[in-house]
Amino acid sequence: MSDYIVRGTAAGGQIRVFAATTRELVEEARVRHNTSPVITAALGRLLTAGAVMGSMMKGERDSVTLIIKGDGPVGKLTVTADSHGHVKGYADEPVVLIHAKPNGKLDVSGAIGKGTLKVIRDIGMKEPYAGEIDLVTGEIAEDLTYYFASSEQTPSAVGLGVLMNRDNTVNCAGGFFVQLLPDCSEEVISELELRLAAVTSVTDLLSDGYTPEDILKALFSDMGLELLETTPASFFCGCQDGNGARAKRAVMALEEQELTDMIREDKPVTVHCHFCNTDTVLSVEDLKELLEAKKNDAEPGE
Ligand SMILES: [Zn+2]
Repeated sequence: MSDYIVRGTAAGGQIRVFAATTRELVEEARVRHNTSPVITAALGRLLTAGAVMGSMMKGERDSVTLIIKGDGPVGKLTVTADSHGHVKGYADEPVVLIHAKPNGKLDVSGAIGKGTLKVIRDIGMKEPYAGEIDLVTGEIAEDLTYYFASSEQTPSAVGLGVLMNRDNTVNCAGGFFVQLLPDCSEEVISELELRLAAVTSVTDLLSDGYTPEDILKALFSDMGLELLETTPASFFCGCQDGNGARAKRAVMALEEQELTDMIREDKPVTVHCHFCNTDTVLSVEDLKELLEAKKNDAEPGE
């Protein structure tokens, strides 16, 4: 099953709901970054959240960035998503080994520790909108629930999960978001609380073969669920597009003197992308072209 996000409404438009399956993109992140299981789980949850939150954005070029900084061994997790289901992300420390929790689950909050969650929404305004909270549990879903209530005044319920196979590949991953719209009645709110309390975990449902639609139907089919839109989701980093255009822009941003020194060294230069863990190699010829372009104050050739 390819990854996708399904969006809908229920209770006559008083709540909006999202559910996603993200196994493929979380597995791709695991392979690209060679992450240990607890980091695969932590990054996978944040990637899932990013993909769904990106799909909530309306503008063609909108993007959302989620940054978790903790005092635990993982250090920092960074995820960026656009409004088309593309998401990318990385962990500062891809390999962290930590004991499982007493219930046998991966200790994501132990790997993250205490810290902050920052959400940056770029909707094409001069300054992106940024909100930051202190982590509540470090389990990510609860932290996002708190973020939505306190920073965006949108009471929400968030569930996120990544289940690993014995060989440390990803068995299933996904999540759901339920958000109250401003006119939501007390009655609907209490009904929601009951239903969400009965959901054990997203990965239990996904590993039982539930699709995102099934998850929403199980929760809301008798509350007037309407499925509205499906967005394919994938791990995507645009840095390899346009013949290394992003690496060229990074080099163009250097001082002219620095660029001249690099050319004098007469060696190819490697630009590393943290998001997809890929190197772009620029030849000395490339550097010379970029220096010329910089002198002429032109954009790098694509
Ligand atoms: Zn990249």
